Amino acid sequence: MITMLSLGIECTAHTFGIGITDGEKILADAKDMYKPEKGGIHPIEAKIHHENVKEKVLEEALNKAKVHLNDIDIFSYSAGPGLPPCLKVGVEFVSKISGKKPVFAVNHPVAHIEIGRFLAKCNDPIVIYVSGGNTQIIGYAAGRYRVFGETEDIAIGNAIDTFMREVTDNAGFGGPMMEKLAEGGNYIELPYVVKGMDLSFSGILTSATQKWKKESIEKSERDRSVLLSDLCFSFQETCYSMLTEVTERALAHAGKTEVLVTGGVAASKRLREMLDIMCRERGAKLFVCPVEYSGDNGAMISITGLLMKNSGQKSADKIDFNPKWRTDEAEITWMD
Ligand code: AMP
Ligand code: MG
Repeated sequence: MITMLSLGIECTAHTFGIGITDGEKILADAKDMYKPEKGGIHPIEAKIHHENVKEKVLEEALNKAKVHLNDIDIFSYSAGPGLPPCLKVGVEFVSKISGKKPVFAVNHPVAHIEIGRFLAKCNDPIVIYVSGGNTQIIGYAAGRYRVFGETEDIAIGNAIDTFMREVTDNAGFGGPMMEKLAEGGNYIELPYVVKGMDLSFSGILTSATQKWKKESIEKSERDRSVLLSDLCFSFQETCYSMLTEVTERALAHAGKTEVLVTGGVAASKRLREMLDIMCRERGAKLFVCPVEYSGDNGAMISITGLLMKNSGQKSADKIDFNPKWRTDEAEITWMD
């Protein structure tokens, strides 16, 4: 078999990443992440960050894989969904470095699924894609990754990060901190909102934040930390139970026996634990995308580009992006 070298660029939001694969192994996965000093992602600041690091990240990826740019056979980039200023950096950079080689436009959520399948070694799972910007329950059927259920408002990671910013001086990702603070917490009721197969997290965020603002004021330092622990515990329990419920229904509905969890929130031990219990009870199996590849990265784009190429897709006529490209709009030609 002739091995082909595939280079992928991730550039939809906070991460600028470049990965290289030969289809057997990930040869390099370099990245640099934009971290806002305060608040959420500022699209223009993220774009400037990506412009500043792109050459350095490319060099790092090529060095790590021990290849030259000329050795690369196909190029791919994340074409959406994402923040337009960031997507534009990827489009321009791939146009510049690809020369006359084929270029593939990769759907970002599809790439999260594919690196998960590649590394966790599962075939046809129900996918729970939970990240800072996305919350979807997905499964393959007839040429598309169908979205069985999704958030009606904000993504779960965004809800977690926003809550942690409201109640602590934490500026970065809130997930790991929430996980720690939740230890030993007790349950306080928060709005559990599942409508059909869709979920809503904004009510949980508002309710938990209001409880904190109202009840923490006149408390001693010790009681404040108890309240915070209870809220973090309850936040996790509520959100993860909702996700587990919808995933179970998707499994039953689609008749599948594998569950794959990916995206940054897949790092959550409690989420995995709940999903694992549900899977065991149903005779299904839980697969987890390794944490180092479950956030945004270039390797997932390189792997998906290679699948597109090997299953006969044509390279992109026009190198362009689509900030609203839905998961179920991407053509999947390698699953049957
Ligand atoms: P991504 O958007 O895929 O890069 O993932 C980032 C999101 O994952 C952020 O919202 C983080 O707070 C979240 N995250 C990271 N680690 C954890 C964790 N242990 N528990 C819950 N969420 C997490
Ligand atoms: Mg992502």
